Amino acid sequence: MSTEPILASLFPDTAALHERGVTVGGVELRELAATYGTPLFVYDEATLRARCREAASAFDDGVAFASKSFLCGAMARLAYEEGLCVDVATGGELDIVLRSGVPASRVIMHGNNKSHEEIAQALAAGVHRLVVDNFDEIEQLRDMVSAEMPLNALVRVTPGVEAHTHEYVRTGQEDTKFGFSVSSGDARRAITTLRTVPGLRLHGVHAHIGSQIFEVDGFRESMSVLAAFTRDDDFDELCIGGGLGVAYVAGESAPSIKEWASSMRDAAHESGLRTDVRLLAEPGRAIVAQAGVTIYSVGVVKSVTQRTYMVVDGGMSDNPRPVLYGSGYEAFDVDRPLAPRPQVVRLVGKHCESGDVLIDEAFLPAETRAGSLVATPVTGAYGYSMASNYNRVPRPTVVFVHDGRAREVLRRETFDDLARLEV
Ligand SMILES: *Cc1c(COP(=O)(O)O)cnc(C)c1O
Repeated sequence: MSTEPILASLFPDTAALHERGVTVGGVELRELAATYGTPLFVYDEATLRARCREAASAFDDGVAFASKSFLCGAMARLAYEEGLCVDVATGGELDIVLRSGVPASRVIMHGNNKSHEEIAQALAAGVHRLVVDNFDEIEQLRDMVSAEMPLNALVRVTPGVEAHTHEYVRTGQEDTKFGFSVSSGDARRAITTLRTVPGLRLHGVHAHIGSQIFEVDGFRESMSVLAAFTRDDDFDELCIGGGLGVAYVAGESAPSIKEWASSMRDAAHESGLRTDVRLLAEPGRAIVAQAGVTIYSVGVVKSVTQRTYMVVDGGMSDNPRPVLYGSGYEAFDVDRPLAPRPQVVRLVGKHCESGDVLIDEAFLPAETRAGSLVATPVTGAYGYSMASNYNRVPRPTVVFVHDGRAREVLRRETFDDLARLEV
């Protein structure tokens, strides 16, 4: 972090920064804020499509977009159009994806506590794969799957790999609520048991070691455990999960999806994985994070003894990641993206918590003040999808921009929306 102007590399692919503004997808961010109001999520469709295509060509057919990172009908359709399957983990996610028109044959169902209804929903729709997580689920499947109601499945295993990332988003280690442990023998027992379920066809194993991972070592380690573990099985698929990191602030850098995939292919080769096994993954963040920018209006600038608080019209309700994980972001002034940023502020939201901080130490131009538009780049992942109505704040509008045009894909919630559950 520094007083230098914000790095252009943090912006969506089509962004152009000029003296008095920023365009994304050929549309001025300032105009989008004027049309749709703030807070506003803006997604660059070209970036979304490019990342989807990159994943579709780097991995084998069946590679999926992890929809929990950002889900709405338009996003599910876009990922499907660009050749990806769509991962869901709950009945609610499955419902939105199916409503959007994505065929069930391109949907992969996850979940570490699938209800009877969720399994029934997935079976009735005829999902492409269901990823089995635990022994209780296997017993449910035994009752529900049959020759008339068949199922294609993967089994989720924990390879015993500690990914280098935040503890809350680490999932590959032994002590986890997800999947079956390879080393304890549970994973092997699960496979043996699943083979006795009539109508269930087991295609292979799945592992997901965590999220926001910058180093490929953990993935390679996972690959070598999975390849060794399945050496004598007749599986035709292996999924290494999601988790590829993205750069959120200056100084960070992550492998591209293509580099990640090629490193996985090397690891598969070194581990002796059969070449006819389809190599799959399910990136979420790496597809959507950099495509998104959040625009806020500054309402208040308050100086206290130690620092200056700059207060925007959103906060932890549209981006809970700083509170959850201590995640870092950068900020820029929508009208002055190329200006030096000597003003150091704590960028905070309007929620009734001292912890409602978006950026602990944000750098902004000297001219940024109450009434300015301030935006945070790289907010396309786990922002809207984790958004809440805390303090009864309506969730923001989401727009996709492309070729000089904007289209609203999720409208702003209204007070009527917020009141609709009152009985
Ligand atoms: C969250 C999750 C993903 C996506 O993770 P990203 O870090 O967004 O790429 C993929 N697979 C599973 C099973 C997950 O839980």
